[in-house]
Amino acid sequence: MKTQKIALITGGSKGIGKAIALELAKEQYTVWLNYLTDHNGAKETQNIIEQNGGSCKLLPFDVSNLGECQQSLSHLLEEETPFALINNAGFSRDGILAMMSEEDWTKVINVHLNGFYNLTATVLPFMLRKRRGRIVNISSTSGETGVGGQVNYSAAKAGLIGATRSLAVEVAKRNILVNAVAPGFIDTEMTKNLPKEQILPSIPLGRFGTPEEVAQVVAFLCSEKNSYLTGQVLSVNGGIYT
Ligand code: NAD
Repeated sequence: MKTQKIALITGGSKGIGKAIALELAKEQYTVWLNYLTDHNGAKETQNIIEQNGGSCKLLPFDVSNLGECQQSLSHLLEEETPFALINNAGFSRDGILAMMSEEDWTKVINVHLNGFYNLTATVLPFMLRKRRGRIVNISSTSGETGVGGQVNYSAAKAGLIGATRSLAVEVAKRNILVNAVAPGFIDTEMTKNLPKEQILPSIPLGRFGTPEEVAQVVAFLCSEKNSYLTGQVLSVNGGIYT
């Protein structure tokens, strides 16, 4: 019988998701790694994990598509249940609301918020049966405070915080802990075109964070060391006041 814990991480081909996958693999998790189309990035994450003696299964699908989520996961879930689900996949389509197309609004909501539903509703019934588990939703500073040009993204990320708090209440009796992590400015592809010099003065620690700094907080939330923290938002943002 397999006893190794499994972590299912969405959007794990690069950036924060990749760092979470590598950190959890270090903690002896078997990794189920979802991504959209970045096969090379996902393969590289898998290679690093396997070269270090770990195990990583690649699961390419679009988190905003419930049918794809179910099709990719249902046969695996009949055999094994992830202990940890990390809803991380995301992207942004910034622009002021007055000029925002319906497509940019809907796509961002679909990936972040419906993606949370699609993954969590698929995996949760199995976690409930096991009476144990950890769910971590990657929100954002944008979900905690107002950021012009990100109404769609802020709405999705704030929605994730509400979903985190309510789901934590629903599943606490089954020993499933649900938390959110809200990164500030983290050095990834998503932030590479931002005007860094203009942003740095607003960050008390004076620098962008690294994906690894977010991953370590996620790993703590998923660990047995976290036994009494649920329904919370941990802001990993270098001190930006939210
Ligand atoms: P990234 O662009 O480096 O990586 C995004 C990952 O999500 C990739 O693996 C991509 O394949 C995957 N993805 C995108 N759309 C998907 C879909 N529909 N289905 C499946 N996978 C999909 O981004 P990142 O900076 O690492 O961001 C990761 C998460 O952290 C996102 O939810 C983002 O909103 C959040 N976040 C990032 C920052 C930051 O400063 N980088 C700050 C706050 C929150």
